[in-house]
Amino acid sequence: MTQHSQTEDTALVLFSGGQDSTTCLAWALARYPHVETVGFRYGQRHAVEMDCREPIRQAMASPRLGMDHVVDLTATIAGLGETAMTADIAIEMGQSGLPNTFVPGRNLLFLTCAAAIAYRRGLRRIVAGVCETDYSGYPDCRDDTVKAMQLAVNLGMERRFVLETPLMWLDKAATWALAFDLGGAALVEVIRERTHTCYLGDRTNRHAWGFGCGTCPACQLRAQGWERWTAAGNPSSDPG
Ligand code: ZN
Repeated sequence: MTQHSQTEDTALVLFSGGQDSTTCLAWALARYPHVETVGFRYGQRHAVEMDCREPIRQAMASPRLGMDHVVDLTATIAGLGETAMTADIAIEMGQSGLPNTFVPGRNLLFLTCAAAIAYRRGLRRIVAGVCETDYSGYPDCRDDTVKAMQLAVNLGMERRFVLETPLMWLDKAATWALAFDLGGAALVEVIRERTHTCYLGDRTNRHAWGFGCGTCPACQLRAQGWERWTAAGNPSSDPG
């Protein structure tokens, strides 16, 4: 692969070490013969999720899985101001109707950086686990935002990237179901045990759906999805 060409069936997955991006990684590995991953440090309180990434990659154990990239945006994001995602302040709803965990511009930066890496690596598809079905209301997770970013990076880098968002229209129960369809009980177990979603970085409290504080917005979404999926009688619903 050269820097100046794109290979059709190759992908770069935005991989944070959470449930959604792990499901996206499994989705990409099921489709494309060459898949690389990228993760971002941005001073997130739950930096523990970055430590989850390599064990998850190893648990995926696919010959299709290529190199991992880590980009440090800590100084960039910190320089833009405080949010509850990056500072030790209470998580609450703001006047705008968005939780104060919203980091303005974060996903726009992530997609731009991912496209820059994909450009250098000759990768065509950029896969992100964003979703506007069962989410915190972040406007940069919406389908229109991602479609606009695809247009922007394709124009700005003169490439033909395809930004793919397999979870966009799935709720959290359907995301668990997708993981089961892709990798059966083994993948569901990797997600329960090894992925991290909790905004507070809690990896001491173990629930049926995995580790977390159980009360932050991210834990609540993950727990409610698990409960709806298991209530529907899925094949992997033992309480663990
Ligand atoms: Zn939590």
